[in-house]
Parts: sequence; structure tokens; C-alpha cells
Amino acid sequence: MKEETALIREKLIEVCPVCGSADIYYEVGGYAGTVYHCKECGYIGAFVIEANEEMIEKIREKYEREREKGSK
Ligand SMILES: [Zn+2]
Repeated sequence: MKEETALIREKLIEVCPVCGSADIYYEVGGYAGTVYHCKECGYIGAFVIEANEEMIEKIREKYEREREKGSK
């Protein structure tokens, strides 16, 4: 019998570095190359991060906290 659980596969997905949202899209081409847009927070930038669910949760937590702090 093989222990399939021994093979822990980290599922990495591309998320916004600011808010951790996976709801991003990108535009290819133009002078800047690939530019990512985040629908959630409006982030526009040349990079996104590959994160697993744990990392995403941490980014989101931080983002929520910052947002609350910064709210007028
Ligand atoms: Zn975002």
C-alpha cells in the first residue's frame, strides 16, 4: 500500500500581493510588458505572488487590518 498522503502537494496560485485576492487579470504587451490588475483592491503592477492557502489567508488578514486602520 502506498501512502498517498505523504505526498503533500502545495497548490500555489497567483494572487495579488496587496490583498491576496485571486481575482486578478493581466494585460500582455505594451511598453511595460505584462501588467497585472487586481479587481479587489485596484492593484496594478508587474508582479503577483504565488501563494498557498495559508499565505493567502495571512495576506488577507493583514490587508483587512490595514484597511480598517486606514478607514476614515
Ligand atoms: Zn488586490
